[in-house]
Amino acid sequence: MNEPSKKPDVFKDHDCVTGSLVGASASGSTLKVIPMFCHKWTCPRCSKRKASVWRSIAQRGKPERFITLTLKADENKDVIQYAKEGKKAFAKLVQKLRRRYEVFEYMLVWELTKKGTPHIHMLQRGTWIPKQVLSDLWCSLTGSFIVDIKRIHRSNEVARYITKYMGKSIAECSEVLNGLRMLQKSKNYVIEPLPEEERGGDEDIEDIDSWIFCSATPRELLEVAKELFGCTLDDRSSANCLVLRAPPDPDLACKLVHHFDDDRSYS
Ligand SMILES: [Zn+2]
Repeated sequence: MNEPSKKPDVFKDHDCVTGSLVGASASGSTLKVIPMFCHKWTCPRCSKRKASVWRSIAQRGKPERFITLTLKADENKDVIQYAKEGKKAFAKLVQKLRRRYEVFEYMLVWELTKKGTPHIHMLQRGTWIPKQVLSDLWCSLTGSFIVDIKRIHRSNEVARYITKYMGKSIAECSEVLNGLRMLQKSKNYVIEPLPEEERGGDEDIEDIDSWIFCSATPRELLEVAKELFGCTLDDRSSANCLVLRAPPDPDLACKLVHHFDDDRSYS
């Protein structure tokens, strides 16, 4: 009778994997294979992960205010074009505000109203801006004067706010606003380092020297690595990174990737 395998399933949640990154240590005796997930908001696995990353970013920016910027409903406008215009207007708004108030750091999420009009929900940190000034500036750029500013009193309000806008609505918006980034942050928004428990935690794995993209999934790579190249799966493997022990061969990663991607050039 076969003993049921007690090993954790390293391919757990790999439904949406589109390829892999294959890394090799200098000696070639350790390979790391990282799955390339689809990263779509419409994917249950990826949306969960993306939301948790953005929730952490949101909080580490220590925002002081919630700001909403609206655009006028216009049924004649193509929604993607409208969102692109909105993005340009927002970039100009930031320039103007920084000139006047110096510090303006933000993380924002785009949302569509029921009528399909794009608008911005934002977490902001920086100098206080009178609502009238914000409204006048935004109106001069977009023709829309409706804005809202609310002070954030407690940090759990940030988590709630982010959760609210990163659920179903962001998946729907990302479908409609195909190709546009739904979330953005300013370069200096984050001011708190990543907490220890959210860091990679794989420092004990031998240093990787070079990475190669491969169109095969980690599962396919593992099969070939075992059968053709005598590799074994290391216990430190997880759903986010397979670790393979291999007979020392500095060209092993290239050979492995070549098995799938013949004519692909790599470096
Ligand atoms: Zn996915």
